[in-house]
Amino acid sequence: MEHSILELFYLAGSLTFIIGLKMLSHPETARRGNLLAAAGMGLAIMGTLIFYKSGVPMLIYALIFGAMIIGTISGWIAAKKVQMTAMPQMVSIFNGMGGACAMLIGLIEFHHFLESDDNLGLLTVLASMVIGSVSFAGSVIAWAKLNGNMKREIRLPKYNILNTAIMIIIVLLTAVIIGGWVPETPAIYVLFVLSLIYGILLVIPIGGADMPVVISLLNSFTGMAAAFAGFLYNNHVMLTGGILVGSAGTILTVVMCKGMNRSLTNVIFGAFGGGGATASGISGSGDKSVRDINISDTAVLLNYSKKVIIVPGYGLAVAQAQHVIHELETILEERGVEVKYAIHPVAGRMPGHMNVLLAESNVDYEKLIEMDLINPEFPTTDVVLVVGANDVVNPAAKNDPGSPIYGMPILDVESAKNIIVNKRSMSAGYAGIDNELFYNPKTSMLFGSAKQVLTELVTELKNMN
Ligand code: NDP
Repeated sequence: MEHSILELFYLAGSLTFIIGLKMLSHPETARRGNLLAAAGMGLAIMGTLIFYKSGVPMLIYALIFGAMIIGTISGWIAAKKVQMTAMPQMVSIFNGMGGACAMLIGLIEFHHFLESDDNLGLLTVLASMVIGSVSFAGSVIAWAKLNGNMKREIRLPKYNILNTAIMIIIVLLTAVIIGGWVPETPAIYVLFVLSLIYGILLVIPIGGADMPVVISLLNSFTGMAAAFAGFLYNNHVMLTGGILVGSAGTILTVVMCKGMNRSLTNVIFGAFGGGGATASGISGSGDKSVRDINISDTAVLLNYSKKVIIVPGYGLAVAQAQHVIHELETILEERGVEVKYAIHPVAGRMPGHMNVLLAESNVDYEKLIEMDLINPEFPTTDVVLVVGANDVVNPAAKNDPGSPIYGMPILDVESAKNIIVNKRSMSAGYAGIDNELFYNPKTSMLFGSAKQVLTELVTELKNMN
């Protein structure tokens, strides 16, 4: 009876995950979807605690509740305090915690399967431990890099051969453990350490524009590890949750790979960076000159345009200029200017960063146009206003085979009639490379921090008749 009630809790939990995930696909329903899935998870945890088994010592309950209270409070505070720009680090470290859970489950449970000679169970528990450890170690490194605690890119000599060799050893060692050809317990600890090393080595060479791919890949690893653990315990809600996270992470990885022109094999086997080009500092800006523009000339140009496309980037997020850009858009629209936003899939520092940011300031979702749909519109655009974006509008991605971002699809702003770029200086973006767009004869640089510049622009426009 108790088992049936528990299964009902798990069914309800699984359904809320599926519905919640579906709701995440639209900004209007995303917040509710998240809450719904979280409630489902709460339900599944409570159901397990109440109905799983009688006779569990009180000390165990005290430990579980203690851990839940600590986890809930620290997660809540971290989520409340996090800056929008630090979201990728937080996603990374939270993902790492999921990996750590699967890793610890594996480390604790493998003894039972050794004793019972259940080879399928042993394989599952080892898979969960290996993938969880890779995900945990990789996520901690990704966090440290994104948080600035660690150098962006560390390349060991022949790192991709080394990574591939370690992966092959992990697979072979798993096979010999299952076959019973080595003393199992010490071999499993070696497997555990190798998995942690693989996770670290997988992520340390990654820098520049490849980071988002690895974060979503690690996400899918954690999902897979959780699914294996669910299979192990015959726990349906864990299995469903793991499969959903694993497949959503995999789909996102594929979409990101496409968005950044990286093959998945390259990602998995550690051949990051492409072409061996250096991605540090500005190159080739010596004898080139840029044209700058002031606030009032920008206001005039915008005011007399028919169509303006705004390209938001990381700098807009750092400057917290999302509200004032919406104000600018509203004023221009009131004056009969058609305004749209061009959304690049990896603008900012996390997938969907610009959508979330602009939704926060109530920009109409219909105005956020994805890259493939907006690119054909640039030739008929009077002014493109690039605010704090750099790599996502860098023509080197199309024109320079030696560039680290070569092949990444970009927003085709060059084909617009006028280009205005707002940033503080000539500094490079995330990929660390110079941007030919700034030297284009059609480009004018509007220097200054986005919030201040846009505020002045709004004031100037309000004062114009
Ligand atoms: P970039 O990082 O290429 O460029 C941002 C620009 O914003 C900088 O050149 C900087 O120039 C400017 N900036 C910084 N602060 C301000 C400010 N206060 N006001 C105005 N401008 C400012 O951003 P993009 O959005 O174009 O590209 C995103 C990059 O991040 C890509 O390389 C992408 O691959 C990578 N990435 C994306 C992730 C994702 O999932 N979206 C995750 C991780 C990385 P200056 O200093 O001169 O002001």
